[in-house]
Amino acid sequence: MARLALVNARVFDSAAGVLRPHSTVVIEGERVVAVTDEPVKVDDAQVIDTGGRVVLPGLIDAHVHVTASSHDLAGLALQPASLVGAHSSRIMRDMLHRGFTTVRDAAGADFGLQEAVAAGLYEGPRLFIAGQPISQTGGHADQRPKGVRSEFFCSCAGLGLAGAIADGVGEVRRAVREQVRNGANHVKIMAGGGISSPTDPIDGTQFAMDELCAAVEEAEAANLYALAHAYSPRAVSRAVRAGVRSIEHGNLVDEATVRLMKTHGTYLVPTLATYAALGVEGLRLGWSPAMMDKLQRVQSRGVDALRMAHAEGVPIAFGTDLLGHMHERQLTEFTLRSAAMSPVEVLQSATIVAARLMRQESTIGQLRPGAHADLLVVDGDPTQDASVLAAGASAIRLLMQGGRTVRSNLADAQGC
Ligand SMILES: [Zn+2]
Repeated sequence: MARLALVNARVFDSAAGVLRPHSTVVIEGERVVAVTDEPVKVDDAQVIDTGGRVVLPGLIDAHVHVTASSHDLAGLALQPASLVGAHSSRIMRDMLHRGFTTVRDAAGADFGLQEAVAAGLYEGPRLFIAGQPISQTGGHADQRPKGVRSEFFCSCAGLGLAGAIADGVGEVRRAVREQVRNGANHVKIMAGGGISSPTDPIDGTQFAMDELCAAVEEAEAANLYALAHAYSPRAVSRAVRAGVRSIEHGNLVDEATVRLMKTHGTYLVPTLATYAALGVEGLRLGWSPAMMDKLQRVQSRGVDALRMAHAEGVPIAFGTDLLGHMHERQLTEFTLRSAAMSPVEVLQSATIVAARLMRQESTIGQLRPGAHADLLVVDGDPTQDASVLAAGASAIRLLMQGGRTVRSNLADAQGC
């Protein structure tokens, strides 16, 4: 098996939150076999001198939509799957090149995209999928404008962000089981209003408690977990009580709600990047005044929510939730979070914390024996300055996924 040794490295120990200087990372095939600052025999390995640079575990974005090639979600729902897949392949490739070796798709992607990446049809992050989001009639994943009566969306599985519309415990159970049948790694439920949905108030609740509990129960029956889209204290608290593992967005939470999250061990996945992007571009993209109003309401509270959750000790994972061409702003999340978290904490949110949320911490999110050899060698020190990563792909000198070099210009940097 091919052996590779990255020497002269400052390795980010994501679990401890520190850099380990003078370290060596030994890789065999697709896996890390050793990370050590002791002398290690590497004469049977290909040796790469990182020049004292920082080595990070591959980054994880825990809230993306790789099928969201447009900000127009209703229009997107009408695209043929072939076109959605073609767009997704480019979105995924770009995410990988920004350093995200794993992403958690928060609805839209199907197992076909996973298989395409695994088969090497195109480059992309390791992809964990939800399948379709589960939404009540008129809920956040029901994109039908007022007056449209057609059964525009169904609870059959398919590529794209179209919701599985389910009302009542029986339909919710069936919709979740349908996602499980189609290979979901987690189940996304819409537990409150959203910005992009045309007919729901942002601070409303969605689904009755018995429906939320049924969704969580069905996810757990399949050894999966549920994540809930929710903004308001009411919507978040209900989802937490129902047993979801993470709250997505959560911008409008208050002190009592973050305390409840802490008590239940619920993760928060803020997505500041998308509000910042839509704040700049929403009007130009034709978003309605009602949608821009909702956006304004949640954007202004995003950092406060993050501060509150952070102060309470709620585990916070990295997410972005970008749409269309705004995906290029994915790395801005690193700097936006700096208002409430230290650079080390931001890095942990995009590595070990996201991995724990996904119950994958033995294989991703940290460089340790047995983990996938997913890593980045970067210029600068992102443990001191979160904007290092926000500088873009140019900061990445070596990008490796599963022991395969995605790209490298380390040799150029050393003048060899
Ligand atoms: Zn989302």
